[in-house]
Amino acid sequence: MQGRESKGSPSPTGTLVYTDSMSEPASKTFYLETFGCQMNAHDSEKVVGTLLQQGYRQVPTVEEAGLVLYNTCSIRDKAEQKVFNLLADYKKQFGVLGCVAQQEGEKIFERAPYVSLVCGSASYRKLPQMLVQLEAGGQRVTGLDDRLTDECFETEFTARTNPHRGYITIIEGCDKFCAYCVVPFTRGKERSRTSASVLEEARQLADLGYTEIQLLGQNVNSYRDPDGKKSFAELLAAIASVAGIRRVRFTTSHPRDFGRDIVDVIDAVPALCDHVHLPVQSGSTRVLDAMQRLYTRDQYLERVSWIQGARRDISLTSDLIVGFPGETEAEFEETLSLMDVVGYDSVFTFKYSPRPNTPALRLQDAIPDAEKARRLAVLNDRQKQIGARRNLRHVGQVLEVMIEGKNPARGQWIGRTSQIKVMNFTVPDGVELATGSYVAVRVTGSFPNSLVGEMADPRLGQSDRSGEHGGCGQKPEPQGAQRNTEEHRGRQASLAG
Ligand code: SAM
Ligand code: SF4
Repeated sequence: MQGRESKGSPSPTGTLVYTDSMSEPASKTFYLETFGCQMNAHDSEKVVGTLLQQGYRQVPTVEEAGLVLYNTCSIRDKAEQKVFNLLADYKKQFGVLGCVAQQEGEKIFERAPYVSLVCGSASYRKLPQMLVQLEAGGQRVTGLDDRLTDECFETEFTARTNPHRGYITIIEGCDKFCAYCVVPFTRGKERSRTSASVLEEARQLADLGYTEIQLLGQNVNSYRDPDGKKSFAELLAAIASVAGIRRVRFTTSHPRDFGRDIVDVIDAVPALCDHVHLPVQSGSTRVLDAMQRLYTRDQYLERVSWIQGARRDISLTSDLIVGFPGETEAEFEETLSLMDVVGYDSVFTFKYSPRPNTPALRLQDAIPDAEKARRLAVLNDRQKQIGARRNLRHVGQVLEVMIEGKNPARGQWIGRTSQIKVMNFTVPDGVELATGSYVAVRVTGSFPNSLVGEMADPRLGQSDRSGEHGGCGQKPEPQGAQRNTEEHRGRQASLAG
């Protein structure tokens, strides 16, 4: 799998969010670990900010902590199981936050006796009061009753862990109720923040020196401004026009709500990145219907044709599930054929995992795990070939890269292109770069999941923060990559047909 960004300092069990930003040691200490998606990681930044504000100090290990918090994910069975294993390990005061907390509720107190706080994400704004209850000796403090709230978790106290890319949640919850998914049950109903408050946060991030903003939502493009002032596409344009912001990303887009205006605004506004994450889940209309995805294969492909018809070379990534109940071999092959037709730059692939409360639990014809594993391997193999072919088109291009770090052992710097591709590149002897700055890199080679290159003429790089937007390129002219251009035209033709 490729394409999704790293989330700070990944550990084998999740993402460690550690901020040693307190100048005076506080006696109340906490350790927090995050599991799951980027939204969880960003929720944790806000939870950490809230705890610091309440006089707690964050520590890097469970052993040092008075309070151990796990921000959990229950998208698949495995993620959930991991948390329960951890809760059994230590005799500590635990708090369980996030999706497992909301899903299991007070049952957690029975399964894990050292847990004293259980709080779903829809109740995070009440954390300060819950912490007071804990400190007063509360044994079973809960925040579980807010799934129908209209309020978002907005806080000015966010302990951001990435100094260059700032995350902003613009919409929380989900009303789509796909047949396999727990999110509507764990994150509550869909609710958007006002565009004014989102823009204010974007301006604050720019003032702090952030140059890249990533907008987050389970279905980010289902955004509805409560004040009715801006559509999602207009919000994108407004954020991109904040002085100092050079890159704007957004994830995840739901195909049903994906309009042409999103492609138009990407074409029109250079600071919007050349990337759309548009999960399809299956290439079979019958399976999509059983999944309650609200679109057909053809409707999905129509959206893809808008994206591929753009003036800019927009990279396209997706999520795919294999082994949904009743998925036949022929339907699985429809997914493979859709991958061929679309030509994804990368995909996240999942074996269907039965989840509590979801309608798919009632479906017959479960696919045996070994068969799911086989289908997953076939899918990943197919994507490896497609990814390798897709990345070839960049060889010879000069792309703008935001620097994320250095690999001294390999003498390479690491960065991301606007299309969210990982670029490993070399620089001339004696040149030192700063993380978070932007350079121009000539692509010299490609792999299925990454590009390699060398720093181009430094004058082409734009490592200052002059406010000029750079590097979000137009579609490439053929640069010795005629084969790829032909492949692209062929795909356009087959989509149109
Ligand atoms: N809202 C986004 C959408 O509809 O495309 C997806 C958000 S979901 C948190 C992330 C991904 O997890 C989904 O796109 C899906 O591929 C995967 N997923 C969700 N529930 C799953 C399940 N029960 N089994 C396997 N994969 C699942
Ligand atoms: Fe889950 Fe479907 Fe909502 Fe995405 S749209 S979060 S897959 S229910």
